[in-house]
Amino acid sequence: MNDLVAKLINENLIPLKPYESARRLYSGGQDWLNANESPFANDYRVDSSNFNRYPSCQPKRVVDAYAGYVGVSPDQLIVTRGADEGIELLIRTFCTPGKDNILICPPTYGMYAISAETCDIGVKTVPLTDGFALNTEAICDQDDVNLVFICSPNNPTGTRAAINDVEKVLSHFKDSALVVMDEAYIEFDSEGSWVDKLSQYPNLVVLRTLSKAFGLAGLRCGFTLASEEIIQSLLKVIAPYPIPEPVAQIAAQALNKEGLARVALQVETLNNHRQALKSQLANRPGITLVGDTTANFVLFRFEKSQALMAYLVENGMLIRDQSKQLNLKNCLRATVGNEEQNARLLTLIDSFIEQTGVSA
Ligand SMILES: *Cc1c(COP(=O)(O)O)cnc(C)c1O
Repeated sequence: MNDLVAKLINENLIPLKPYESARRLYSGGQDWLNANESPFANDYRVDSSNFNRYPSCQPKRVVDAYAGYVGVSPDQLIVTRGADEGIELLIRTFCTPGKDNILICPPTYGMYAISAETCDIGVKTVPLTDGFALNTEAICDQDDVNLVFICSPNNPTGTRAAINDVEKVLSHFKDSALVVMDEAYIEFDSEGSWVDKLSQYPNLVVLRTLSKAFGLAGLRCGFTLASEEIIQSLLKVIAPYPIPEPVAQIAAQALNKEGLARVALQVETLNNHRQALKSQLANRPGITLVGDTTANFVLFRFEKSQALMAYLVENGMLIRDQSKQLNLKNCLRATVGNEEQNARLLTLIDSFIEQTGVSA
């Protein structure tokens, strides 16, 4: 490392590595079933007549549209550069570096720990149980935490957190910590949302995004929903112009009546494809489904997972290796794609099994 850089760099960043997206690693691929994106790319119009002006910090038409969509007041919501920025804002706003902790329940989404580490915030870990349920007793034993992150549907297990368990956690931490429900995949599990409970639990926060069901991962637009006091605190920390004007225009279109109707149809289609992919995968010799499928992906265990991954990559098909996550040895996660992509994945798995002779 360059001496000056080594001398100056924030010490807690030294062990960290730049994020490596699969796309950076395998630029030659063609089928991307690795990042839980939607296979649908919808059309939008952009009006450039105000691009010479700074955008609004919180574009009103987007705030109002999303508030209307989920049924909260516009002061209970902040628009961010993806849900990932919401995670980081919560950590920067509600944790003091070198002193405070967050709590996570692995196997789960990686950005909670990454954001905490870059901010010099401690990470306490209470693993999910064998059936991927919250270990509420162990969670409630952790007194020294400011934020509890619960992902439901959970990435990568596809499981929904039980209502009773979340209620226990919310009540236990009512005077000591915020409980953040990450609902990045909630459109695929419409019964599972906690948004309606915001008024009942002042320490509840809900994260949402346009990156998954809405098919707008390229847009970078997410939402944090919480009490007005929590939102006011986050507004102290967010950058002055976080939402580019073209993003605001496109998000507003995605959230209008037509956009919402289209997403509902696409979610229905993907949920049907998921059921098909799930039952077909379960029929393959040596494959065991793991967790549940309340989101737009399927997690499965396969003994030769590394060799299968390599074979798929060779053939331009990318899914996501989850085998390094806690309790997910030999597990791979496949995003539900369009019909052709799902069929191609199954065909490649079959030819791999045939070549290597895995038996049931
Ligand atoms: C994809 C994902 C996010 C990030 O969403 P962005 O809005 O694209 O930043 C957050 N949480 C979970 C669980 C995710 O899978």
